[in-house]
Amino acid sequence: MSKLIALDDGHGMDTPGKRSPYIDSLGRSIKENEFNREVVKFLDQELKQCGFDTLLVAPTDQDTPLTVRTNQANQSNADAYIAIHYNAFDGSFGSSSPSGISLHVYNGHRNQEAGKLAESIAKYLKLGTKQNYRGIIENNFHVLRETTMIAVLSENGFMDNEREALLMLNSDFQREVASEHAQGICEYFGVEYVNGSAPSPPPQNEAIEDSTVVEEPTSLTGARVESIYRGSDRLNFRSKATWSDQDIVGTFGYGEGWIIRRLLKVEGSYQYEVKNSKGAVYYITASQRYVKVIGNNIPSSADAIVPYPGKALQLGSSGKDVQRVQRAVQVTVDGSYGPITRDAVRAYQSRHGLQIDGIVGPNTWNVLF
Ligand SMILES: [Zn+2]
Repeated sequence: MSKLIALDDGHGMDTPGKRSPYIDSLGRSIKENEFNREVVKFLDQELKQCGFDTLLVAPTDQDTPLTVRTNQANQSNADAYIAIHYNAFDGSFGSSSPSGISLHVYNGHRNQEAGKLAESIAKYLKLGTKQNYRGIIENNFHVLRETTMIAVLSENGFMDNEREALLMLNSDFQREVASEHAQGICEYFGVEYVNGSAPSPPPQNEAIEDSTVVEEPTSLTGARVESIYRGSDRLNFRSKATWSDQDIVGTFGYGEGWIIRRLLKVEGSYQYEVKNSKGAVYYITASQRYVKVIGNNIPSSADAIVPYPGKALQLGSSGKDVQRVQRAVQVTVDGSYGPITRDAVRAYQSRHGLQIDGIVGPNTWNVLF
């Protein structure tokens, strides 16, 4: 018999407060439900294609009371409850705004079935658009507490991080998030994932490089790298070059730092291999959103993890930097920037909320690398 999945799109369209800050480039703010509703719509289609039955517990744009949502799921004996959300920090775009995705289960359920379902969904979310992974978190939320079936709530980005806020309206991103949830749900229930609506695939370079570690050239060896992240949850350091929670051995806070040994690309995202004052070796994020390299003898062009070449790469460009871009956007690496490379760059820009011009300028470069 088909499993029944209850789908919850979070809020009503006009629920107070549930929106991004005002975005200058857009001339308005984005409502949380503009994202949640679309993802639930795509997820509903995908799950049906995979043979699931679905129950939309809040099918209108009104703010269906939470009790009505959970009662419906309980009365219908749903097998799982999935709530799609977008996170908020302090309601303003500040440099301290966190970013990234997290999965939420009820208190004590991290190591139970809900935690397993969350883990499966997280596995696929991590393969998609590059975002900080904040882990599986236990909360006393109504929809997690009052549901009688396994329940997972996902926060798929931060509305007060401008890059992630703009992703909310990107339909490739919405489809990708839905497809990743569907794949995780299929895996948890042992159902074959059928990709009928053919959403755009997640960036292939990340999927292919999954579980691989590539050393990247860097001029930063010997420099100090510090946390610039002021969030209360601190940054992780790991015993191995992975992004797996199992390899986390500790955390470090704002201003705490390490000495860089190597720059690595791990499952498509950058890490520094670092050592502490006693020479112990660990692995930390190299994202410039979270850490900053300090040091007198570091040339200023080394601010980017892979320094921006200084001029935009576009149709007609050639050379080593073009090859680097081609590897990143997964087209034939011939060092010559032709229409295929341009189109792949445009697709990449679209997926990442960048200006879509097919030209690799500093903004695109810094998201690519
Ligand atoms: Zn929400």
